[in-house]
Amino acid sequence: MSKRTSARFKCCLRCKALLLSQASICPNCRSSEFTTDWSGIVIVFDPENSVIAKALNLTKPGRYAIKCR
Ligand SMILES: [Zn+2]
Repeated sequence: MSKRTSARFKCCLRCKALLLSQASICPNCRSSEFTTDWSGIVIVFDPENSVIAKALNLTKPGRYAIKCR
């Protein structure tokens, strides 16, 4: 993962969604608390049938960070 990628995105502290850095509110959970200190991208297409989505407790399709603090 390049440093460029992580600079372009930020992670929602509440639901781990990855958002473009210019986003002001999380479309998933309406939180406005973000961090740029994240690593690993998971793209979930089908949360119902995704082992990774279940492991990370993700219920909506989208792009998420594996680690987000
Ligand atoms: Zn969120």
